[in-house]
Amino acid sequence: MCAIPRLFLFNSVSIPLMLVIIHSPAQLQEIINQNRKKNRTIGFVPTMGALHEGHLSLVRKCARETQLCIVSVFVNPTQFNDPKDFEKYPVHTQSDVEKLLTTRADVLFMPSVDDMYPEGLQTEDTIDLGGLDQVMEGRFRPGHFQGVARIMKKLLLMTQPDKLYMGQKDYQQCAVVAHLLKIWKMKTKLVICPTKREKNGLAMSSRNERLSPETRAKAGVIKSALYYVKNNYHKLPVELILEKARLKIREAGFETEYLEIADARNLQPVDHSISKNQKLVCCVAVWADGVRLIDNVLID
Ligand code: AMP
Repeated sequence: MCAIPRLFLFNSVSIPLMLVIIHSPAQLQEIINQNRKKNRTIGFVPTMGALHEGHLSLVRKCARETQLCIVSVFVNPTQFNDPKDFEKYPVHTQSDVEKLLTTRADVLFMPSVDDMYPEGLQTEDTIDLGGLDQVMEGRFRPGHFQGVARIMKKLLLMTQPDKLYMGQKDYQQCAVVAHLLKIWKMKTKLVICPTKREKNGLAMSSRNERLSPETRAKAGVIKSALYYVKNNYHKLPVELILEKARLKIREAGFETEYLEIADARNLQPVDHSISKNQKLVCCVAVWADGVRLIDNVLID
């Protein structure tokens, strides 16, 4: 275990705070137990690292709203359906720690693969995801949400948080986790935080650093296409809107894997002729120079 002190300016008074960095689940358990005994509220922000402002916005909110803010950094191998994507996933431990030191996070949990999967990576077990893993991301990334569910089960059992902070950027993942909390009858409250964007509107993502500067600049088109759908949904025929949005993306030189409007609660396809009072979400996955980017927008 290692604790890094830093000074935090609060109401003009410098308060020394610690960021405790731990690797083993046993150490995490000890910290959780100590804090539970003191009746402290526990907040948890699971991440795969290569932290950016999107992640940090979750951490800051968690630290404001709970008394023990735990952040995990773990690149979960079982949620990568493409081994090359896993190999290329950025790892920036040093800068992750530096960035967390600018927040009021209390604990950074960085387990190894063996710590999280002592039983090995293969499993025959499947977790019931209520059909949420059959659509959109689930259709193009088979097994992805099973991997997400498997790691979330372990992390949630370890942390038993009062509040769990996740980003709307991964809308379908939030829906899957909300479903898991429900079927496991957990009291944890899921707090979904708004998507942080780069100046041109591109949703912040650890994968953005794999884009060339030119591609990154053009990738703002993804948000424009989503907002084109949102702003025209009640005005034009849906198929026409979706076609135009896909065209915008294609004209920027990118390939749309899917661009769909779904029911915002269960993510199932909607019958647009009767969807007037339904809460909807438009989700997109785009390939930009070999990098897969996702984003979404809610439609009122
Ligand atoms: P990841 O490290 O990509 O697994 O993301 C960890 C958490 O940060 C997830 O709950 C994501 O939805 C959230 N997150 C990632 N990017 C953003 C963003 N641009 N804005 C807000 N939250 C984000």
